[in-house]
Amino acid sequence: MTTTLPSRPVRGPVTLQGRLTSELAKLHAAGLHISPRVLEAPQRARTRILGHEVVNLASNNYLGFADHPFVKERAAQYLHAWGAGAGAVRTIAGTLSIHEDLETQLAAFKHTGSALVLQSGFTTNQGVLGTLLQEGDLVVSDELNHASIIDGLRLAKATKKVFRHKDMADLRRVLSENPTEGLILVVTDGVFSMDGDIAPLGEIVGIAREYGAVTYVDDAHGSGVLGEQGRGTVHHFGLQDAGDVLQIGTLSKAWGVVGGYAAGPTELRDLLINRARPFLFSTGHPPAVVGALSAAIELVQQDPSFMERLWANTRFFKAELNRLGFDTFGSETPITPVIFGEAETAFEASRRLLSLGVFAVGLGFPTVPKGLARIRNIVTAEHTQEDLEIALSAYQMVGREMGTIA
Ligand SMILES: *Cc1c(COP(=O)(O)O)cnc(C)c1O
Repeated sequence: MTTTLPSRPVRGPVTLQGRLTSELAKLHAAGLHISPRVLEAPQRARTRILGHEVVNLASNNYLGFADHPFVKERAAQYLHAWGAGAGAVRTIAGTLSIHEDLETQLAAFKHTGSALVLQSGFTTNQGVLGTLLQEGDLVVSDELNHASIIDGLRLAKATKKVFRHKDMADLRRVLSENPTEGLILVVTDGVFSMDGDIAPLGEIVGIAREYGAVTYVDDAHGSGVLGEQGRGTVHHFGLQDAGDVLQIGTLSKAWGVVGGYAAGPTELRDLLINRARPFLFSTGHPPAVVGALSAAIELVQQDPSFMERLWANTRFFKAELNRLGFDTFGSETPITPVIFGEAETAFEASRRLLSLGVFAVGLGFPTVPKGLARIRNIVTAEHTQEDLEIALSAYQMVGREMGTIA
């Protein structure tokens, strides 16, 4: 069947093409236009870009699980046993027993009463913040929190306030200036994704408690990295049994696959199942994802060498960068920024590193503050000494050429 449509008026509203070209032109003019690099081989410590093998310092694949044989094997088993897709949203007919098994495994790992797995870390923040917060509540958020927290808070009708990054006096000020009878939530990343520093959770929870507030930790970059067996930032600070700390996180960084989770009291899971909109209106994970995740969480507990290698590599790489004279901005985790100053300089350094076989991405404003443009490196358990030495000599060459180091 064909439909005859009227032609567009000559003058009138903005056309699709008009909107697309004007928005792209703005990005180009501001020097903010990006196009992703394409990996021509699997996500590993060495991969291929533009036909060349490169040392990969750009992924979040902390433990090397994205392409690990044990993880892939379980994904394949679940694919064959359970099929390619969940077939429905979880609340209608898409909850398979393997979904619930994974949630039980996660809750045990996190020492929480329950865990719920959502489609991604991004949608988890939307789902949980959107569900928990109501009008009359107060939410206090670290200024450097992740974009998905910021977007999640846009969905919430609560009063929203920001405190200066890790500034405990400022957190206290905001809490004391905004008394409320509603729920008070103090929201922080466990590990901050741009600087690689760790939230002072012990202090945050202490201050939150004084004001009757609950602490909400997004542990995307902490789980699989910090705490005994990679249980995350909350465990790193020994707060796993605090009743007033909520953890959310992602299954797409150290766990190497995709997904998000919220871990807390059993009632949290129950309420989210009933109210969290991304959970209610979007299909559950395919079995292969569930299988891979169950294997990943098992593997980190069975074999301590993943985390040992991750941290040995992290310490070596950071110390060597500092010895060469680079500023790693006080990073405390495998996220290792190297500060270049202006965005153009960081982007140019990233291009030069790539030409020397090192893949590491430059980040500028608005992702990081003006004047603090950087290359963000993420060291993984999979990198060999040789990989890191190749990267360090490339850094030394580029840093000298560009006048960043002497
Ligand atoms: C990456 C990240 C997310 C998003 O996780 P995805 O699973 O990739 O959607 C959320 N919060 C923080 C702090 C992150 O770093």
